[in-house]
Amino acid sequence: RPDRPGRVAGRRGDRLPEPVPADPSQEAARRRTFAIISHPDAGKTTLTEKFLLYGGALTSEAGSVKAKGARRSATSDWMELEQKRGISITSTVLQFPYRDHVINLLDTPGHRDFSEDTYRVLAAADAAVMVLDAAKGIEPQTLKLFEVCRERDMPLLTFINKWDRPGRDPLELLDEIEAQIGVHPAPVTWPVGIAGDFRGVIDRRTGDFIRFTRTAGGATEAGEELLAPDEAAEREGEAWTAATGELELLEATGADVDEESFLAGISTPVYFGSALTNFGVRLMLDGVVDLAPAPAPRVDVKDEPRPLDAPFSGFVFKVQANMDRAHRDRLAFFRVCSGRFERGMVVTIDRTGRPFATKYAQQVFGQDRETVEEAWPGDVVGLVNATDVRIGDTLWVDQPVTFAGIPSFAPELFWVARAKDTSRFKQFRSGISQLDEEGVVQVLRDPEIGDQAPVLAAVGQMQFEVAAHRLENEFGAPVELSPTSYTVARRTDAESEPALKSMRGVDVLRRADGTRLALFESSYWLARVEGDHPELVLERLVAEGGS
Ligand code: GDP
Repeated sequence: RPDRPGRVAGRRGDRLPEPVPADPSQEAARRRTFAIISHPDAGKTTLTEKFLLYGGALTSEAGSVKAKGARRSATSDWMELEQKRGISITSTVLQFPYRDHVINLLDTPGHRDFSEDTYRVLAAADAAVMVLDAAKGIEPQTLKLFEVCRERDMPLLTFINKWDRPGRDPLELLDEIEAQIGVHPAPVTWPVGIAGDFRGVIDRRTGDFIRFTRTAGGATEAGEELLAPDEAAEREGEAWTAATGELELLEATGADVDEESFLAGISTPVYFGSALTNFGVRLMLDGVVDLAPAPAPRVDVKDEPRPLDAPFSGFVFKVQANMDRAHRDRLAFFRVCSGRFERGMVVTIDRTGRPFATKYAQQVFGQDRETVEEAWPGDVVGLVNATDVRIGDTLWVDQPVTFAGIPSFAPELFWVARAKDTSRFKQFRSGISQLDEEGVVQVLRDPEIGDQAPVLAAVGQMQFEVAAHRLENEFGAPVELSPTSYTVARRTDAESEPALKSMRGVDVLRRADGTRLALFESSYWLARVEGDHPELVLERLVAEGGS
């Protein structure tokens, strides 16, 4: 293969197998749609790049998905914020072929302040790969991201990364997974050679040893040599004895991969490797193809599955404006749930009953975009300037269907926003509602005050930073944010509102969709109100009280 820098081949049209006349269920069967979640720096980006390498979509390391400095010219202002903070906020969708499958990899932000964004992306994924740093294990700040996965009972695969460096004991890491996130770890591979002196892995399904060899800079696939156990014992000596000893311990605890409990989110197949040197990357990707579920019929609000072969339907899980300077527009991403999507199709937005012509349908590949002509269940498509489309919307043709929306998180931080420069109020207002639609922050209003001083509600502090940065840089509306004394929210209704509003330390504000949220200064105060007034409606919101 020519060593050309950059991503050359591997973009849809030229790499995917010729579209044979297909039906949606056949196309769905060969798709795997999943997300990678990890703590910042655990190696999500590196693993993503290596998946692309193994998928043939990346020919050399120079073509990084997230070439941290290099992409500056084409990035938006708030991507600069990401770079400054070293975090990833924007999510992208990568599609690439692997074996005879089509992989859709959904990116998620790595920071727990953006767990709500992750939650929305997971609504479009069928499985997730959790990447852990072998030296760090499960990092406390990331627990919330994994809990989000658990809450959805999502099939979870685990990649223990950076085994090329000194790290922790593998058995101890497994204990930690079990204890911290409550999923039962079931290693598919087992490392031979301690962390830092990584020789290869035992494939527990066959007992064979897969010996890895490094390639310069990890630019090409790692060399792999398959050895039978007795040969391996001879070659690796003590490292082999140690690994097989650990495996015996494991076997005694019944840590075998079990498809059923994996699909139910109860157990997690574990792979050991090193993304940087490509060790174990192919096995991990094979694991996604072999174990992760293909797109299945999505259940609607009436609990009825929409058959894959039914006419097109899709589900909007993400809205994002101004993703980069070259395309200052608004993209609404949907996942195809049934049927065949064809560009130009007129779809109905279920919430409004209005038609939308999908003339500008795009596939976003990292920083690049291209027009997408057709898509199948499991695929993700971005609609350009679909201003009427919101997160949680269902799109369909011919046969109506309504999928459940994505619940909002319980915000824990509440700050008042005001335009610093009153002459920019119009820009401030449109910026605020754009951020609300994207779910960057939740916007709560007092109907009597309107947009003068909306309360921005968030799960993590950094959401406010992003909001303020974008208001100033994209909308030209510098904003002043000041904290309120509220710390906890409950959903309430019109009947309970007057009584709540008359209480000290309580306020009732509204989301754009009309939902009423009662805000309390403390959980103690909330508990008192609940105790004294059982007649008031005060419902919990999702992901309450995560770490
Ligand atoms: P992300 O923040 O989770 O996307 O992490 P990155 O993929 O950007 O990786 C963070 C750092 O860890 C980078 O400096 C990587 O080169 C490094 N890294 C990633 N995978 C490995 C690995 O397998 N071994 C070692 N030694 N370093 C790695």
